[in-house]
Amino acid sequence: MRARALEVGSSSQWAESLALRPFGKGIKMESADQSNVSVEVQTLRTWIGECKPGRMVFFGGAGVSTESGIPDFRSPDGLYAQKYGDVPPEEMISRTFFDRNPQMFYEFYFDRMIARDALPNRAHRKLAELEAQGTLSAVVTQNIDGLHQLAGSKTVWELHGSVLRNYCMGCGAAYDLDAITELHEQASDGVPRCPKCGQIVKPDVVLYEEGLDSHVLEESIKAIRRADLLVIAGTSLAVYPAAGLIDYFQGDHVAIVNLAPTPRDRFANLCVAGKVGEVFDF
Ligand code: NAD
Repeated sequence: MRARALEVGSSSQWAESLALRPFGKGIKMESADQSNVSVEVQTLRTWIGECKPGRMVFFGGAGVSTESGIPDFRSPDGLYAQKYGDVPPEEMISRTFFDRNPQMFYEFYFDRMIARDALPNRAHRKLAELEAQGTLSAVVTQNIDGLHQLAGSKTVWELHGSVLRNYCMGCGAAYDLDAITELHEQASDGVPRCPKCGQIVKPDVVLYEEGLDSHVLEESIKAIRRADLLVIAGTSLAVYPAAGLIDYFQGDHVAIVNLAPTPRDRFANLCVAGKVGEVFDF
């Protein structure tokens, strides 16, 4: 079974979450080793330090990779702010648009959604370290950039797929990022086609209107259900069903680390209005 990706969130919900956001008071706590770190950040680091082995899960979004130079969707300088011609990006990366206008889809995709030289940042690296030392059981991510794995994370559930994998829509032949890029560059219309059967090669990325992989969904839910500590970071929590997965959490502490308010802040035990790379730099 595949659940369809769709987006929710009205301006009134946002206004409500802004009003109720229980943090951002700028409280600072002086200490010998973490002199410039807020009480919220210290609390989160303490929870991580005290978490039982394998009982922490990280749920992330595009904001986790902005410090690697990849724009997110909903920040002021994110992709939604950069209209491409007359078509807003959210429409451009829908299945309907892909089917009707693959040429423009691929022009946008290779121009704006592929960040070939991006490298993992402090957050990616710390999460890989936390997994290696046994604290973190899984990263559940909406990102499609593969940076968690590049940093060394092993258990990464990619809810929306990955730009690193691509498949022929006809014969199913697999192509890596270099291969699809070459096919895109060779094609007179920019649409990558399979040299074996001539059909379009499509990124293994979940477009709006498409379903999520059921195995990835199940494993993500299992990981979240088993966790004592859930850290949600760099996501506007506006894309469903991904954002709904956090409702499966039954553990002790939920922390949200995000620059902007989210509709779920009032349900969190702790909110940190900071950069995820800085918060995870310890
Ligand atoms: P989003 O753009 O809707 O929200 C990102 C959130 O992260 C914003 O609220 C922003 O304030 C916050 N943010 C930005 N930089 C931050 C930082 N350094 N520290 C803390 N918070 C920061 O992204 P989303 O919720 O992930 O949903 C959008 C969809 O975008 C996802 O489905 C994802 O597949 C796709 N996407 C992925 C990438 C990627 O793979 N890197 C990039 C763009 C979009």
